[in-house]
Amino acid sequence: MTSPQSAPPRGDLFEVAQQQFQRALAWIEDLKMGLIEYLISPEKITHVRFSVNMDDESVRTFHGFRVLHNSTRGPGKGGIRYHPAVTEHEVSALAAFMTWKTAIAGVPFGGAKGGVVCNPKELSRAEQRRITRRFVMALGDVIGPHTDVPAPDLYTNAETMAWIYDTFDVMHPGENNRAVVTGKPIELGGSLGRDEATGRGCLYATQQLLKRGGVPGLQNLDGTRVAIQGLGNVGATCMQLFHAAGASIVAVSDSSGGVFDAKGLDPETVLDHKRDCGSIVGLPGAVSISNDDLLASDCDILIPGALECQIHDGNAQRVRAKLVVEAANGPVTPAADEILERKSIVVLPDILANAGGVVVSYFEWVQNLENQQWELDEIRARLEKRMVKAVDDVLARRELLKANHDSDKQKRRMAPTLRDAALVTAIRRVADVTLQRDIWL
Ligand code: NAD
Repeated sequence: MTSPQSAPPRGDLFEVAQQQFQRALAWIEDLKMGLIEYLISPEKITHVRFSVNMDDESVRTFHGFRVLHNSTRGPGKGGIRYHPAVTEHEVSALAAFMTWKTAIAGVPFGGAKGGVVCNPKELSRAEQRRITRRFVMALGDVIGPHTDVPAPDLYTNAETMAWIYDTFDVMHPGENNRAVVTGKPIELGGSLGRDEATGRGCLYATQQLLKRGGVPGLQNLDGTRVAIQGLGNVGATCMQLFHAAGASIVAVSDSSGGVFDAKGLDPETVLDHKRDCGSIVGLPGAVSISNDDLLASDCDILIPGALECQIHDGNAQRVRAKLVVEAANGPVTPAADEILERKSIVVLPDILANAGGVVVSYFEWVQNLENQQWELDEIRARLEKRMVKAVDDVLARRELLKANHDSDKQKRRMAPTLRDAALVTAIRRVADVTLQRDIWL
């Protein structure tokens, strides 16, 4: 959850999602008429207005919504964010990302996302709790263990999920309702390993890509120089796990700025300093750099793990890494994608790289339905297996697309990227299931 001190810049994720989808479509010529419109459009958009008693005895009305992008492969899955700038457009784009992500990861969910327009920085914990409860009541059966399963996102966390679960449980007495949300506290049915899942998934996906020769000049993580933007859940986990796997962390940043050390930073020292001083800035022995400098730092792997639209046409030319691992959602704009492509910089796309979070959310959902609690080792092993398979599937798809490209160079400007291959894999899976279900009759 982003710290209340750092309001994120709002990139136009909707535009990013549309452009990425359109580019991927150039590689799919045999989709049935009408199917494309179905695949890109949200299935259901629910708007609710609800009033809440504030701490000062006043009453305020809030606007919330839930977008179910696609449920063909299973119940909707995706976070709920609290932010003053949440829009239906942005949430729709994020819901679409979830549809593609769940399809690539092979988990039986569709894509969804939700939000409440509010400023958590100005709300007490009690107000946030009341907002959550009224929001869930207003949504009614829009969410449910077998229809649409929320999770944490910006400014929501395990505690918020506990409130959602409790409210839904009160509305549906006598049923096992734990699977209505994931990302819950462990004691309430949360899964071991969920906190680290997205970062760990990034590690497994990167290792598999390198092992398969997906990045010229990089065979494995040994001695590989890594720069990471963002030191929240995903960024900090990546820092620890990539370091433990043999990489050297040469630069990190948070919302206040960054630090660089060519000799490599010690993750625990970095986290201690951030804990003690509130930011990574001023870490003794390291050089202070700006966030833009971090993106341009001398490294082999760059991991944008904070916000959307961070690498854009204004700074992509400065990126020096061989590989960009999109730990955040939508950190590279389509214009930047083309610049990186021309510089032969490989991008491991978000819908593949950060799918570890939704994979372990799926594990949580299964454990809840079965009243089970799996061991951490088992969860990690299952996660690795799924991330390895997802990378292999996308690489196999890229080979197929490359073969088409080579025989048909006139029609397309660029060779297929991993993002194209990932999106085509996902779109095909959703399209195939749509046709198998024969929903058109
Ligand atoms: P978080 O709120 O825990 O961390 C965000 C970090 O980004 C914080 O350290 C913050 O200081 C930093 N930050 C904010 N503005 C910055 C800036 N301008 N420059 C550099 N750093 C900045 O969030 P998170 O859960 O780690 O999520 C990060 C990204 O990963 C988001 O795009 C999120 O959608 C995506 N993601 C998260 C998960 C998950 O399981 N947490 C899963 C999939 C995708």
